[in-house]
Amino acid sequence: MPIYEYHCETCEKDFEQLVFGKEEPDCCPACNGKNVCRLMSACGFVSKGGGGQTVSSAAGSSCSGCAATSCASCG
Ligand SMILES: [Zn+2]
Repeated sequence: MPIYEYHCETCEKDFEQLVFGKEEPDCCPACNGKNVCRLMSACGFVSKGGGGQTVSSAAGSSCSGCAATSCASCG
């Protein structure tokens, strides 16, 4: 059975969830936030195999309108 990783954008926590069929979680188990996304390619998450480190491109971004980590033009 598949286990997917999810990231909550509300409390910045990652969690794993067993998924049966289409029963994907739509809220965070920690804060019940609705801003969760699956850690695959959906939210710009990059998982680097081998080093054991994961890098989330969304974590340091303060701008949702562009890819910049610090954006003064579209905030
Ligand atoms: Zn949360």
